[in-house]
Amino acid sequence: MNLVFQPHPVATLPIAGSDQRFPVRRIFCVGRNYADHAREMGALEQAEGREPPFFFSKPGDAIVGGDGEVSVTYPPQTANLHHEVEMVVALGAGGANVAVDAANSLIFGYAVGLDLTRRDMQAKAKEKGHPWDMSKGFDQSAVSGAICPVAVCGHPVSGRVSLTVNGQLRQDGDLSAMMWKVPEIIANLSTLVRLEAGDLIYTGTPAGVGPLVRGDVLVAAVEGVASLRARMV
Ligand code: MN
Repeated sequence: MNLVFQPHPVATLPIAGSDQRFPVRRIFCVGRNYADHAREMGALEQAEGREPPFFFSKPGDAIVGGDGEVSVTYPPQTANLHHEVEMVVALGAGGANVAVDAANSLIFGYAVGLDLTRRDMQAKAKEKGHPWDMSKGFDQSAVSGAICPVAVCGHPVSGRVSLTVNGQLRQDGDLSAMMWKVPEIIANLSTLVRLEAGDLIYTGTPAGVGPLVRGDVLVAAVEGVASLRARMV
């Protein structure tokens, strides 16, 4: 093919215990999937009932991750960058209109990630009814550690989801508190788009989101799945 320039190389994530890497396609995120976080954001209807899940995306190359300590560049145009620790689902197969009981078969593995958010910009966007894209989908906004294959960690449905910043516990939830479970998320999302191998799904954050500054050292973990160490630079 006669391209005018070479395409951007695909973003990849390491796979725990393997020298193979996972090529990232798209990044989907679930909003307000833990009642305690919905409550802290003032989204009381979401916290009380079970409103249908809603999704937003980040570009596939917004991913930053790796083995060891990940360096994350503090983004421009914000004075209130927030951490959101989340379990990340990595798809190894695709499909549209996937049934809930077939959804797990699409999953390659799981990781722990950070859905970084320009909270000040997001608040303005909400107020004006503007899109969230620039508050959620900026460069290096999707942090992820290595992916643990299903063959190793199974399909986790409970377990601690935690984040410390400079050694202080900021977020401490449990996967079992997700309002929409992983297979339900996949089934719902697959009615909106055809899912494909390489897609990542950030599954929502428990309460305790808060601001980061340059120099902060973050340790995120999903019990029994993965951990991640990151530094804001
Ligand atoms: Mn989030």
